[in-house]
Amino acid sequence: MHEMSIALSVIDAVTEKARQEGCSKVTGIELVVGRLAGVEVEALKFCFSAACRDTAADGAELFIDEREAFGQCEACGERFPVTSFYAKCPSCGQFRVTVESGQELAVRSITIE
Ligand SMILES: [Zn+2]
Repeated sequence: MHEMSIALSVIDAVTEKARQEGCSKVTGIELVVGRLAGVEVEALKFCFSAACRDTAADGAELFIDEREAFGQCEACGERFPVTSFYAKCPSCGQFRVTVESGQELAVRSITIE
C-alpha cells in the first residue's frame, strides 16, 4: 500500500531526528498534505498507527494539515482551487490549467521528549 510506505518513511525520518537530538520518544508529528499529493488521509492515519508500533514514535499524535490545491488558467490567468489535475477554469471554461500547489507532502514539525 502506497500510504504504508509513506508512513514508514515519515517514521524513519522522525525517529532518526529524535535520535540525533538525543531524545528517545516522539510524541507528536505534524504533516502537511496537499489535496493532490495522491495520499488518502484516512488510510495514512491508519497505516501510521500500525507502523509506529515498537518504534520511538509509538503512541505519537499525528496531525495532518490538508492543504487546498490551486491552479492558474493559462488562457485568462484566473487562480482558483482545484481538486484534480484536469480542472476547468471557472472564469473562461477552458481546461488549460497549470496546477501551482497542492502536491506537498512534508513533515512540518515534530515533538520529541
Ligand atoms: Zn480561464
